[in-house]
Parts: sequence; structure tokens; C-alpha cells
Amino acid sequence: MWRNLRIAILLLVLAIAAYSNWYDKYSTTDWDETLWVGVFPIDAGDGEAAARYIADLDTADLADIEAFINGEARRYGVRIDRPVRVDLYPPVTEMPPEHPTDGNILAAMWWSLKMRMYARRNSHPEGRAPPQIRIFVLYHDPTFTQSVPHSVGLQKGLVGVVHAFSQGSMTRPNNVVIAHELLHTLGASDKYDPATLAPLYPIGYAEPDRVPLLPQTLTEIMAGRYAIDAQTFEMPGSLADVRVGAATALEIRWTRAL
Ligand SMILES: [Zn+2]
Repeated sequence: MWRNLRIAILLLVLAIAAYSNWYDKYSTTDWDETLWVGVFPIDAGDGEAAARYIADLDTADLADIEAFINGEARRYGVRIDRPVRVDLYPPVTEMPPEHPTDGNILAAMWWSLKMRMYARRNSHPEGRAPPQIRIFVLYHDPTFTQSVPHSVGLQKGLVGVVHAFSQGSMTRPNNVVIAHELLHTLGASDKYDPATLAPLYPIGYAEPDRVPLLPQTLTEIMAGRYAIDAQTFEMPGSLADVRVGAATALEIRWTRAL
């Protein structure tokens, strides 16, 4: 009897989790009303620059993310006026749980659970409506930190963690990473080879039909880099040189077929 009850409760919990994942997925990609995205800056604590940078940050610094996504949505036929709205939220002081790097599936599941609880605790500032998608951006001081951990975006949980640099010249490149992780939360997959960082052809190319094919000049957002020649792949300087490719548009349900 107790065993059956325990199994029934476990099944109920799993069913609720499955329903809530399904609901999140469909409610964020039906594109019939504005999707609210909140960017929460965090001082990564590795230098003096981040606190100053965060104090100067305002919503206008994030404006090209919203303009990029809404412009591309329109190009793919999304009809509403403002498909996404990207707002800056007050800084968060609690650090997000550290992402496991060893590929252990249980550790990854545990991390994703902790990440959801973290996002829930830290995305309800007083007097502000909580956003549907939460992107936590850790700003690192570039004088002390040259390379940062991988950024992540999770569709299950609608949450992203971005590692960025607290330097004025990095604001636009940072926004490319924020847009990439934001699209992960909407179900877009990576379109580069993790071993070589080469954009995958044709899905990772912004202009797969270009003649000659190389050099490309625009970047597919989920590839993150554009190919100059067969071995050279560069990151774009800003979202002005980035596009959403047809495969990504299908994944986030801007289109229904390729
Ligand atoms: Zn990615």
C-alpha cells in the first residue's frame, strides 16, 4: 500500500514536471503576445571594473538584442508588433550554482534543478513583474579574466547564465552571447562543431547560398561564428552582422517548415 502510494506520488510529480515543461515551451514560442525577457546583471567579483560597469548599465545597452530578435521575427513572418521585450533588472548578488563540466548526467540534472530554484529566488525584485525568461549575466573584469566559462541557456526552466566582460567595447559582443543563450531557452540548438568551432554547413551559415560561399560576412546566431575560409572562424562584432537561420527559425517556431 505505502509502496504504491509512493510510486503514485512520484508519477504525479513527474507528470507535473512534464506538463510544466510542455507549457513553458508552447507558451514561449506561440508568438501571439510579447515575451518578457529579464536581464539580471551580476558582479562576478574578479575585479573592480564590473561594479562600475553594472552601475552604468541601462536598458538602452540591451536595445540591440530586442531589435535583432524582433527584426528577424518580422522577416520570418511573425505578425505581432513586439515579439520580445528585453528589460534590464536590478543587479543580483547571489551567484548562480556552478555548472558541472565533467558531463555527468546526474550532476547536470542536479545543477538544472538548483538553477531553477536560483532563478525563482532571484527574479522577483520588489515592484517589478517577474519576466518569463530570466538571463543572469555575470560580468567579469577583463583586466583579471581573459577567458570565461561557457554560457548556457536552458529551455527547461527558461533560464540562461551568460559570462560577459565589463568593458564598454564588449557591450555589443556581450549582447551577441545574450541573444544566443536567449534563443536556447526558446528551443534553438547550437549550429557549430564543438571540436573545431566551425559553423555547420548549411544550417550554421547566415548565407548558405552565397556565391562564392567563402568568405561569409554574416553570422548565424546559433553558430556564433562565421567562416572566412575553411579553417578561420570569427565572432561577429555586434548583432548588426548576425542573422537567424532557417533551421533556428523552425526550432523556435517562427516557421512551421524549412
Ligand atoms: Zn549555445
